[in-house]
Formats: sequence, C-alpha cells, structure tokens
Amino acid sequence: MDDSCLFCKIIQGTIPADKVFETDQVLAFKDINPVAPVHVLIIPKRHLASLNELSEGDHEVAAGIFDAARRLGAELPELGGEYRLLTSCGESAGQVVPHLHFHLIGGRRLNWPPG
Ligand code: 5GP
Ligand code: ZN
Repeated sequence: MDDSCLFCKIIQGTIPADKVFETDQVLAFKDINPVAPVHVLIIPKRHLASLNELSEGDHEVAAGIFDAARRLGAELPELGGEYRLLTSCGESAGQVVPHLHFHLIGGRRLNWPPG
C-alpha cells in the first residue's frame, strides 16, 4: 500500500471504482475514461510501480493478472474472446498512474500501431 497512490486507494475502497473481477491478488475495474466499449484495468493488489518491479518470484501475481484477463475476455459479452491486453511501463511509454496495470480493451475494431 502506497498512501499517495490512486490505485492503492481504489483497492482500499477510499476512492470508488466499478469493479468487475477480484481475487486475493488482483482487482479489475472499469477505466474512468474508456477508449473502447470495454476498457478494464487489471491491477495487482500489492503496490508495484510498474512491470519493472515485478520480481522473479512473483509468479502468482503474474498468473493472476493473465487469468483475470482470460476470464474477462471469455465472459464479457461485448468481447466474444477478442481484445487487446497491454501495459505501459514508464512515462515515455505512456504510463501515467505509477501502479502496475494492464488495460483490457475491446468491443470495437482496434488499430495498430498505437500512438
Ligand atoms: P496509464 O496511462 O497510466 O497506462 O493508464 C492509467 C489509466 O487510469 C487511464 O486510462 C485513466 O483513464 C485511468 N484512470 C485514472 N484515474 C482513474 C480513476 O480515478 N478511476 C478509474 N477507474 N480509472 C482511472
Ligand atoms: Zn499503488
């Protein structure tokens, strides 16, 4: 828990969020500013600033994130199993919130490359 971290506050419940999936390790909630019909953020409950802070032993956290993505991809009817999962690591890559998060985006045709 990082007292100054927005996503830690969402985990603690001091800032509200529209949660869609939760385990002991992982929370998934709707992005406040969606870029597609489905835009969910999947985060570890333990504060890690970015993927760079994930340790070699953090298999459960990594598996929990991918498991949440796979389940949501299968269960959210707008997706039909088709979606993009991405994380931005560092400011120049586009990371704004310094708590590791994966964007699960879909429900429309997505372009490549991103900006
Ligand atoms: P980043 O740019 O760091 O990869 O993504 C941060 C994401 O967090 C953005 O898509 C932004 O819309 C989302 N976000 C920022 N503040 C809040 C908030 O208070 N609640 C929710 N649900 N999403 C937020
Ligand atoms: Zn945090």
